[in-house]
Amino acid sequence: MQLLGLTITEIHKLYQSKTISVGDYIKAVYQAMQKDFASNFLVTICEEPDYSKLEQYFDKDNILSGIPYLAKDNFWTMDLRTTAGSKILSNFQPTEDSTVIKKLRDKSTVLLGKTTLDELGMGGTGLFGFNGKVANPFDTTRIAGGSSSGSAYAVAKGYVPFATGSDTGDSIRKPASFVGVVGFKPTYGSLSRYGVIPYAPSLDHLGYFTRNVEDMALVCDATYGFDKKDFTSIANPADFASHLNDLHKNAKFGYIKDVQKYIDGKLAKAYEKLYQKIKADGHEVIEIDFSKKLLDALPAVYMMISFSEAVSTHSNLDGINFGERVEGKDYIETIKKSRASGFGMNVKKRFVIGSYQLRKENQELLLAKSKKVRTLIIKELQKAYELVDILILPPALDIAPKISEVVGVDVEDRQDDEKVFLQDLLILANFNGMPSITIPFIKKEEMPIGINLNAKPTADLLVLQAAKYVEGLVQQGGFAND
Ligand code: GLN
Repeated sequence: MQLLGLTITEIHKLYQSKTISVGDYIKAVYQAMQKDFASNFLVTICEEPDYSKLEQYFDKDNILSGIPYLAKDNFWTMDLRTTAGSKILSNFQPTEDSTVIKKLRDKSTVLLGKTTLDELGMGGTGLFGFNGKVANPFDTTRIAGGSSSGSAYAVAKGYVPFATGSDTGDSIRKPASFVGVVGFKPTYGSLSRYGVIPYAPSLDHLGYFTRNVEDMALVCDATYGFDKKDFTSIANPADFASHLNDLHKNAKFGYIKDVQKYIDGKLAKAYEKLYQKIKADGHEVIEIDFSKKLLDALPAVYMMISFSEAVSTHSNLDGINFGERVEGKDYIETIKKSRASGFGMNVKKRFVIGSYQLRKENQELLLAKSKKVRTLIIKELQKAYELVDILILPPALDIAPKISEVVGVDVEDRQDDEKVFLQDLLILANFNGMPSITIPFIKKEEMPIGINLNAKPTADLLVLQAAKYVEGLVQQGGFAND
């Protein structure tokens, strides 16, 4: 019997029909993950449970009961250390669960371990975790993407039907494209961030990886909700799974002209075919203008806002308040030594740039200006949503890059040319908080490339319905798969 690569619904059916017990299923998953431990997708694996006791988790009326999952290692877990991928937090043991983990526990899901991430969520490659790199599950010379690298890897391998992630720039939705799974970031505040170690709070979102859109709806239904412990939390009602097939026939799709023109080759043909099919089903597909100047500003504005928020947020990781301490002769030296030894190169670089912007003389020129540009981008998106309901973006213009091509080329090291914004397109959704989902689209050289769908803030049901619809079109085939 094939036990890996199943969806939540498929596993539930196996439990219900008693084809396999919860204990035997979880044991098979454990064994498979243990054999692959050297791939580094896990920071920590849970102790093996008493398998014979797991059957009590199952409840035929609760589809998530007994379902195994993994959590990105920036979600607090009260029974497992939470490192956020950083040496400075390598022994941090939270005293409670983050809200999302608690809600999943209340649904009788089974947490099996914590997944590898780029340190503190800062990165897009999977090469910057303190525990080593994670490669692409389908080609180890390529990246899995990041920062939610281990979660993307595990769901793509089929060890678990879902895993948690966080997304400040694209950290769920870009890796989802590179490994061929579904990755969703709900509207800002829909999933409580209480108990998740931040990167840049005004941009940080939580979300999930799953193997299809239906499973995404199921985990969102179980975990959305207002939480008074998170002051950015909102009450965004979730009742998605039973309404997934109800996409309104008048829903309008759209794409950005200055983005679409850079897509070429096989991927461009696939987009054309997709638009034809969507039109054939009676939906409009509209080409929209979006200021190229604002698109070009995406990487810089992202860096300015996220790096400044990051250095400020993490000022408590000093070896005194939190984090591994390296003793110095006084407390200043202790802080310096703890931070020097606790953080990796990439994080230090971002902190230096962030601190520079926070200097009094630079605040108006750099940080305040970047916030103004963010507001202009949000307004430009509002204009786009006057024309369309679903905005289609390419999460990546190609398959996952080779590891050798990305080493030393982080977001702040890229050449500034007319195309560079294409790598940071998904950040649009972090700026305005809109729901944004990547689903598998085509294969090129046997590697996946995804497609990304967005709707205006709080239209989470709409974007999931559109994703379910496009997923169906993709499954019908004919989009240049090889
Ligand atoms: N890749 C982006 C970066 O390097 C996004 C990271 C994220 O979303 N956490 O910062």
